[in-house]
Amino acid sequence: MKRRILMVTSELFPLAKAGGLADAVADLSTALAGRGHDVRVVLPRYYFIDREDLHRLPLEIHLDPEGSIPVYETRVAGPGPGATVYLLDYEAAYGRDGIYTTADGNPFEDNVKRFSLLSRAALELCRALGWRPDVFHGHDWPTGLIPVYLQDPLYRDWFPGSATVFTIHNLGYQGTFPFSEVSHLGIAPGTVLTSGLMDGRHISFLRSALSSATALTTVSPTYAMEIDQPEYGLGLEPVLRQRTSPVRGILNGIDYDTWNPATDPLIPLNYDENDLRQKALLRRVLRWYVGLPQDDEVPLVGMITRMVEQKGFAELLSQHNPTLVRLLTRRRVQLVMLGSGPAARERVLRELAGGFSNLAVVTGFDNQLAHLIEAASDFFLMPSRYEPCGLNQMYSLRYGTVPIVTRTGGLVDTVVDIREDEERGTGYLIPRSSPRDIFDTVSSALDDFESAPERITAARLRGMKQRFTWESAAVEYEEVYRDAVERSAGEASMPN
Ligand code: ADP
Repeated sequence: MKRRILMVTSELFPLAKAGGLADAVADLSTALAGRGHDVRVVLPRYYFIDREDLHRLPLEIHLDPEGSIPVYETRVAGPGPGATVYLLDYEAAYGRDGIYTTADGNPFEDNVKRFSLLSRAALELCRALGWRPDVFHGHDWPTGLIPVYLQDPLYRDWFPGSATVFTIHNLGYQGTFPFSEVSHLGIAPGTVLTSGLMDGRHISFLRSALSSATALTTVSPTYAMEIDQPEYGLGLEPVLRQRTSPVRGILNGIDYDTWNPATDPLIPLNYDENDLRQKALLRRVLRWYVGLPQDDEVPLVGMITRMVEQKGFAELLSQHNPTLVRLLTRRRVQLVMLGSGPAARERVLRELAGGFSNLAVVTGFDNQLAHLIEAASDFFLMPSRYEPCGLNQMYSLRYGTVPIVTRTGGLVDTVVDIREDEERGTGYLIPRSSPRDIFDTVSSALDDFESAPERITAARLRGMKQRFTWESAAVEYEEVYRDAVERSAGEASMPN
């Protein structure tokens, strides 16, 4: 059945990207549009999204006290028709260079206003368009208030029967603010109490979505199971356990047109699984580009990452067991790292690179370099503490770059340890993100590189054939939408 789906998001590739969320929303939207659904996406027009490339809609939405907000339109291209994208042009909230934070990495002080506005404006926009979605689909804490507004007396009757689906891309970011900020939300006190928004003395956007959305999904089957436990649930596991319907884990796909080593225009040489020799040349290009010594015998390990605790940086840089330094000094290896994070950590890493000729660190966001690192590296390291899905390990597999990843979340759903399964193995699993386990597992991969190169080649080739497609994810989301719409219709027909 064809549905009307409104995606509400703070990131959308290629317009605004801080991490994998941007890719996921864009790819899911185009996959669903390609299957015949009417998919539309709402996001803020941040300052860095050029209005020149957009088309202004002949309507404005009115919010109190913000006033009227112009809306621009564009499309996310994809295979098939693509999805319609609406951008909210509200300068006071979104006329900034960052999505969530200032250039120094500090969250904007008015994020409560900025992102409650996003949800509210999304509802107002649908009304102004005369378009009633079957499903409002929100992604991560910035859109967590959609189900709350839809319960509020102000909006309750606007979209009878519409369901809300909320996807958890990362439970580690909860949108928690002091209770005093509640006055900015424009929500009736009764709704504040019943929507799950309150968390002790705080309000939590994510908590309210987990309590109130008709259906919840997350981005891998293993993460869906993990978040039931305190270690991964980060305080929200009781809220999840209270739900009548469990969180469904649907593995993200990747865009195999964009991430295809045979056609990728962002790398200087293309290759496929029939001939991997170009990888050696690409390795030389990468070494030259980032200033690593040219030594074809030494394996190259790549990392592309936000430099935050979740990604294993405390373990890599641990004071008493500095894994990164131990690897650089004790093993014959070169490491290239592209990432951005807190300024102090970026500085520590750049200084470290100054002291080790086998470490290159590039800070900032650089999509082209990301493609080159995926293509040129022998191994790709993701020692994450937790990983809801992770995209880079899937890109690595596609590029014949052997992933070394923690046995958690989407990583364990996509990588098979070659030491446990010689027939199906595609990478190496780090048992836990501890300094010792990271060192031992990387060492094990490097040992194989030296003494069992045929094992590495077999893993590369198997990895390149793996497919994690948005097409199959979209089919699963359709099931979620069907169930959510049925449940929501059932609730709407119940007497209050
Ligand atoms: P997360 O969303 O938690 O950051 P993922 O692995 O799911 O992690 O997705 C990260 C995405 O962002 C990947 O597409 C990765 O290539 C990209 N990325 C992260 N940091 C950078 C960077 N500094 N430069 C270019 N791309 C980056």
